[in-house]
Amino acid sequence: MSDTFTQKVLNWFHQHGRKHLPWQQNINAYRVWVSEIMLQQTQVATVIPYFERFMQSFPDVRSLAEAEQDDVLHHWTGLGYYARARNLHKAAKIVVDQYNGEFPKEIEKVIALPGIGRSTAGAILSIAGGQAHPILDGNVKRVLARCYAVEGWPGTKRVEQALWQVAAQHTPTHQCAQYTQAMMDLGAMVCTRTRPDCDHCPLQNECLAYAQGTQTAYPGKKPKKAIPQRETVMVAVSVRNQLLLIKRPAMGLWGGLYGFIEAASLDAVVKRYELDEFSATSLTPFVHTFSHFQLHITPVLVELNEFLQPGIAEDNARWFDILEPIEVGLAAPTQKIVNEIRSLR
Ligand code: SF4
Repeated sequence: MSDTFTQKVLNWFHQHGRKHLPWQQNINAYRVWVSEIMLQQTQVATVIPYFERFMQSFPDVRSLAEAEQDDVLHHWTGLGYYARARNLHKAAKIVVDQYNGEFPKEIEKVIALPGIGRSTAGAILSIAGGQAHPILDGNVKRVLARCYAVEGWPGTKRVEQALWQVAAQHTPTHQCAQYTQAMMDLGAMVCTRTRPDCDHCPLQNECLAYAQGTQTAYPGKKPKKAIPQRETVMVAVSVRNQLLLIKRPAMGLWGGLYGFIEAASLDAVVKRYELDEFSATSLTPFVHTFSHFQLHITPVLVELNEFLQPGIAEDNARWFDILEPIEVGLAAPTQKIVNEIRSLR
């Protein structure tokens, strides 16, 4: 009826699994559903008193559907993630209006209810209805990722699909409720995030991560987002000791500060301003880091014999004496380049 993995999990559950939690008494879909939603981001010990108060006030789906939203949220106060309560309330109304108060038995209909994903739907239908559906909550992902050494962050489709496949492969057709509860318990009680108790784990002989001593490498962490890289050429135009600076638009990067002409290349600036007689000196390139990207700056000093003709320089362009303090706002990279130009004088 089931493979070794499944049998070991079930045997462990019969001996060590949790069987006395409030939602494991008087089991029905409504109670399991509420408990699963409360447990989504919250520890069992915290959930218990909330669950009990909730059941006192809203003992069935009809009483929940008829409640005022304020009252439902009041019962959630302190649990956090209030969208869970709003969705639960919305879904209760749907169950009453569309299903005459009977919690649907088809997994597609359950998944279509607000706030219920595939794993929660599977848990409700297996625990309350004995249906054979795999689950894949955070605890189960951890157990399976370790047992099968599934690399990568489960937030990616590829990894999630691999884990669903393994989860489905071991889900038995009998004792589904016990198996589902067992997998949750195993993740919560034995295969914990930082210190898995492998010596008391029924899956020790099946577990690749245990065999390799790499338990905490699974599941893979969410990859840190690479900071986008951008490039710019900053062209410092000067005529003798005068330096051209341009006021930036009020909105956007360095809004309202003065800076140099920027372009993808010196050639683009030469073309744009029709420069013909000039000498160009490469200054020291550097990287300026913003919170959301890094700017690779290539500064170039372009020395002209004559001032740019009026109308060629952009609006807001001003000439500053390089040897005098520049008393307008300059971004740090602009100031850095000004300092380098000064050092060349
Ligand atoms: S052997 Fe250790 S790492 Fe592997 S499933 Fe069991 S507790 Fe988790």
